[in-house]
Amino acid sequence: MTGQVIGCCGLLCSQCPAFLATQANDVAKAEETARLWAREYGLGLPVEHVWCDGCTRAGRKCSHCAECEIRSCALGRPARELRRVPDYPCSQLTGFFEAVPVARRTLEWLRARD
Ligand code: SF4
Ligand code: SF4
Repeated sequence: MTGQVIGCCGLLCSQCPAFLATQANDVAKAEETARLWAREYGLGLPVEHVWCDGCTRAGRKCSHCAECEIRSCALGRPARELRRVPDYPCSQLTGFFEAVPVARRTLEWLRARD
């Protein structure tokens, strides 16, 4: 996990195709990501809404993550990261974990190291 860019929810931004396309400044990969997300999630994003520098880093956010309520909540808290807040895991995070269990495993791993 060392060296990974990790989102507030536990998603690995550094393995996200939007992040990889953005860091490589690769338009073809960003377009491929837009098509992938259209197929998998029904997101009809134009490629300019795919560019993303990661959840917790400065810079661009893909349009979905720019509007993410989990991220807004985490960044609005002093501790900044959800795994450190006293009410972890909140109901929103619990619902997210049901859809993305690997994100829970990542946050649990980080909490164990905190
Ligand atoms: S914040 Fe960006 S890099 Fe992280 S998961 Fe969302 S789209 Fe991918
Ligand atoms: S913006 Fe939301 S869904 Fe995307 S990585 Fe951050 S917390 Fe997770």
